[in-house]
Formats: sequence, C-alpha cells, structure tokens
Amino acid sequence: MHKRIWRGVRQLAEKLKIRELTGLNISDASMLVEDLVDIQIRNLLDREKFLKTRKRVLFLPHCSRKYMDGRCRAHFDPKVPAYHCAHCSPDCLINKAIALGKERGHDVYVLPGGTCIPQILEKNSYEGVVGVGCSQELKEGGELLKNKNIPGQAVFLIKNGCANTKFNLKSLEEIL
Ligand code: SF4
Ligand code: SF4
Repeated sequence: MHKRIWRGVRQLAEKLKIRELTGLNISDASMLVEDLVDIQIRNLLDREKFLKTRKRVLFLPHCSRKYMDGRCRAHFDPKVPAYHCAHCSPDCLINKAIALGKERGHDVYVLPGGTCIPQILEKNSYEGVVGVGCSQELKEGGELLKNKNIPGQAVFLIKNGCANTKFNLKSLEEIL
C-alpha cells in the first residue's frame, strides 16, 4: 500500500513540477510531497477532535519574522521558552499571525524550534495545538502530539529555508 502511495506521490511531484520549483531532486521532491500528504491526512484525522477542544495554543516559527537580525525587536525568554514579539512591524507575517491567533482565543508562542514545545506543553494543559512550520518540524511535532494524545492541526511553510520563510495567512485562518 505504501509503495502504491509512494508511486502516486512521485507522479504527483512530477506533475506539479516540484523539482523545477524547489530545485530538489526527484527523490527529495517526492519525499516532500509525501510529507505534505501525510500532514494533510493527519489534519483531517484530528480535525473533529480538535474542534471539540477549548484551550488551544498556536506555535509559530521564528523564521517567518520580517527580520532575522537586530531589526526584529522581539526578545527571547528562555524561561518560556519563546520570543516575545514587540510588534515593531505591522506588515510582519508573525505579527499578523499573532493577532489572528489571539483574536481566535489561542495562546501564541513564537518558537526558535520544535524542541521548545515539550516544555510549554508540560507547563500548560492545552487541549488542542495549531503549529506552523516546515515539513520536518511538523512531522516531529505531529509525533509528539500523537504520543501525548493531543489533537493537532498543521500549516506548512510555503517557503522554507530557516530565514524569511512564509506561510499562507489565509490557510492559518481557516485552520483556526
Ligand atoms: S513584528 Fe515582532 S516578530 Fe516581527 S519583526 Fe517586529 S518584533 Fe520581530
Ligand atoms: S524552516 Fe523549519 S527548521 Fe528552519 S527555522 Fe523554520 S520551522 Fe525551523
């Protein structure tokens, strides 16, 4: 079954010209599409349970900040651990996502990496999690939530690279 899915994914990667768009070789491109399909399936499987939760959290990746240098006025608090955004730039994607998350009643954390998540989940009793990240981070986060039996919803980055990354705010809004 997995082989059949992989073949389908490989054909999809070719059809969508993932290699041309991302510069990845066909095997890496297929893996990327396979990861995205897995994440989407997990979103669907968890959706109903997630919608029944009340205390929710939104995790955002620090790599989508407008600036990755001193021009970003956020400061990192290792005790949380997360960045506190200073809202210096109205057009910063993270700034907009924080406003959206809070508007929908979520606690919001801007994280330097998924390794901060266990600590935050241990300190707070969140019932549902929304995470934005690259496929690797989302896969690892998904496994963690599965082990903790917390329903999660994922939004993947449409531009990766650990700096100046992007996600679709509309997709996040729909998930929230
Ligand atoms: S709005 Fe927040 S995250 Fe964006 S650059 Fe300013 S301080 Fe950093
Ligand atoms: S691209 Fe992925 S691994 Fe890199 S900083 Fe962003 S979320 Fe983390």
